[in-house]
Amino acid sequence: MTREVRAARGTNRTAKNWQTEAALRMFHNNLDPEVAERPEDLVVYGGTGKAARNWASFDAITRCLTTLDDDETLLVQSGKPVGVFRTHEWAPRVLLANSNLVGDWATWPEFRRLESLGLTMYGQMTAGSWIYIGTQGILQGTYETFAAVAEKKFGGSLAGTLTVTAGLGGMGGAQPLAVTMNDGVALVVECDPARAQRRVQHRYLDELATDLDDAITRVAAAKKERRALSVGVIGNAAEVLPELLRRGVEVDIVTDQTSAHDPLAYLPKGVDLDDWQDYAAKKPDEFTDRSRESMAEHVDAMLGFLDAGAEVFDYGNSLRGEAKLGGCARAFDFPGFVPAYIRPLFCEGKGPFRWAALSGDPADIAATDRAILELFGENESLVRWIKMAGERIEFQGLPSRICWLGYGERARAGLKFNEMVASGELSAPVVIGRDHLDSGSVASPYRETESMADGSDAIADWPLLNALLNTASGASWVSIHHGGGVGMGRSIHAGQVCVADGTELAARKLERVLTNDPGTGVIRHVDAGYDHAVEVAEERGVRIPMREQ
Ligand code: NAD
Repeated sequence: MTREVRAARGTNRTAKNWQTEAALRMFHNNLDPEVAERPEDLVVYGGTGKAARNWASFDAITRCLTTLDDDETLLVQSGKPVGVFRTHEWAPRVLLANSNLVGDWATWPEFRRLESLGLTMYGQMTAGSWIYIGTQGILQGTYETFAAVAEKKFGGSLAGTLTVTAGLGGMGGAQPLAVTMNDGVALVVECDPARAQRRVQHRYLDELATDLDDAITRVAAAKKERRALSVGVIGNAAEVLPELLRRGVEVDIVTDQTSAHDPLAYLPKGVDLDDWQDYAAKKPDEFTDRSRESMAEHVDAMLGFLDAGAEVFDYGNSLRGEAKLGGCARAFDFPGFVPAYIRPLFCEGKGPFRWAALSGDPADIAATDRAILELFGENESLVRWIKMAGERIEFQGLPSRICWLGYGERARAGLKFNEMVASGELSAPVVIGRDHLDSGSVASPYRETESMADGSDAIADWPLLNALLNTASGASWVSIHHGGGVGMGRSIHAGQVCVADGTELAARKLERVLTNDPGTGVIRHVDAGYDHAVEVAEERGVRIPMREQ
């Protein structure tokens, strides 16, 4: 029987307090068919990122959150509720640990063995930590990244440029809109027509071409006219990119967001879409070899574009690492997007601040949008984003918003939202969380911590300290995950979510969590030797013991 899950809306609670009601609604919202990629399998996004281990765990988590007192804490181990303890009202209501494995065992085959025994699940970043808000969540980060590419290489705008990429899944679906929001043209390769059509429906993708010839004609015309346009084409990236290179199509920017972090979630050349799941399940080793070989060919084509002068970057899916295993020796000749564009923002503790209206009323998000514009009106790219987001984004599930804010800014926004709940300007409480992809909450040497100035890429003490500090500061739920974004053995990361319910207690918690959480980003980058982070710490009063007399 297919079960359909949607978050409750409005001001009537089934849980005992707003913190647990918020966790319950966001947990259910992650599995809303508008939000999740495969809700029937509890899969939210990112290949196999799940919200709960199985439906029995789903029911038990729902039951616990409904009955939990405001001095109790629920423990969730890889999507399964395993204990409830008495704590205190400042403690998180839920603590989650997902997909963590001891170093030497942290491989996909071992993870899958344990998963098939029913002992673990893959939590991705915000799937298992219940703060995924659909494709919008990544859209802002993707918009920021393409804006940074425009700034670095194309005089501040992508007008008249062609970006070629692949993958129109939960995250990758943001790419076409992020490019057109920067006035560019995008050609996106996707092997699954249903995924591509879904992006057209949600207005993230403008058009779907009938075949590659048609796609090339459409994007070439738009590029020539400097007209923003996104075109999807159905095909395998490992075949289409080499073909584009062979035909000499003039491409300015190349990246990729297929689910390359998991070789079983990347479709190898020559494998039929309909045979994919069955083949991967029955012969995972053979499938892995074939998908790595295809990734090597895919990356070879990207290197061809690099050699021809295009701006090429890895978009955080481990494509280079897998391609290298597939025999592409030069895979790391192009950089990851964090060292190339995002690190200066991380030095300011800047990252993906997101919130959702528990009322379910889009008017609440419109009101918070206005509040953000009032608070940060001097920040031009933020203002541009909030205005465009208000006009162009279709909400998926509970209405939500994201924007990148730095140290100090997040606390101001959180306190403002709490006041708006208290005054009745917002019709119900708001949850405030973030992606694990943030300035101080992740160790991921192929992505967020690639090429750190002091070589500390693989040091994973930082995300653990981040989670401990958020727990100590009053967050409503805190999570520690392994393997998100880039796959098993390659990342350790933490998340936090807090609830603005309009109370004085919430204000005190929000002020601490939303200051301390990005604060760990500032100190992490000071420690690694970034001058910009030192300036931010000095200017905004972040204490760094080793710099004090
Ligand atoms: P997803 O599984 O929802 O979507 C991946 C898409 O790629 C699917 O639609 C699939 O059909 C398509 N695909 C697979 N193989 C293909 C091939 N050979 N040719 C063409 N299309 C192919 O995953 P997602 O949520 O969109 O995430 C994409 C990747 O980005 C993941 O590896 C994820 O870990 C990573 N990621 C990146 C960031 C970031 O900030 N850059 C953040 C989180 C995750």
